[in-house]
Amino acid sequence: MKTGIYIHIPFCKSRCIYCGFYSSTLFGLQHNYATTLIKEMHLRRSEFNGLGSIDSPNSVDTIYIGGGTPSTLPLSDIQDILNSVSECFPGNPREVTIEVNPDDITPEFVSCLRSFGINRISMGIQTFDDSRLQFLHRRHTSSQAIDAVRIIKEAGIENISIDLMFGFPNQTLDEWAADVQTAISLSPTHISAYSLMYEEGTPLYRMLSEGKITQIDDEASLSMY
Ligand code: SF4
Repeated sequence: MKTGIYIHIPFCKSRCIYCGFYSSTLFGLQHNYATTLIKEMHLRRSEFNGLGSIDSPNSVDTIYIGGGTPSTLPLSDIQDILNSVSECFPGNPREVTIEVNPDDITPEFVSCLRSFGINRISMGIQTFDDSRLQFLHRRHTSSQAIDAVRIIKEAGIENISIDLMFGFPNQTLDEWAADVQTAISLSPTHISAYSLMYEEGTPLYRMLSEGKITQIDDEASLSMY
C-alpha cells in the first residue's frame, strides 16, 4: 500500500471572495504553527505504524504541502517541516508537492524549494482574465501566472499542476476555452478544473443572495465542464 502525507498550512496573504476553507492572514502565527506542527509530528509518530521505516511496504510515497497558501511560509519553516517529515517517517518519496500562489514565485524561491527535495508544484491560477482575478480578490495577475510557470521550469521543476476555475458570472464558453488554451500552451503536466462554487458564508455567496451577480445556468456550466 502506498502512503501519502498531507501537511496543511492554513495561511493566506488575503482572502479570496469565494473561499469556504479556513485560513488566517495573521502571519505572526506562522512560525509558531510550523514549530507546533513539527512537535506534533514527533509526539505522534508512533501512532503511524509502519511509516517509520524505509523498508516498510507502507513507507511514504508522496508528500503534499497544501493550504491555504504554503508558499507564504518562510523558506526556513518549509525546510524544517520537510526535515522533520523525513526524520519521523523515513522513506524515499517519489513525489513531494507544494501548493503556491503565482505572486510568491521567484527564481531564488523555487531553487530553494528544489534543494529541499520538492519536485512538483501545484499553482492556483484560476483564470488568465485579469478582471476576473480582481473580482475573485486573487493576488496575482495573468502575466504573473504565466511568468511563474516559466520561472518554475527554468529552476528545474517540470512537474507543474495548474488549478483553473470555470462558471464565472457572465462567462461565455469561448472565454473559458481561451483560459484552457492558455493553460495548455504553458505545457503543465496536469490541469485541475473546478466549477466556481457559491459557499455559504463567503462574500461571493452574499453577492449572489443580494442579487448583485447571477449564476450561469446548469447547461452552460455542463458545457464548460
Ligand atoms: S488563496 Fe486559496 S485558500 Fe487562500 S483564500 Fe484564496 S482560495 Fe482560499
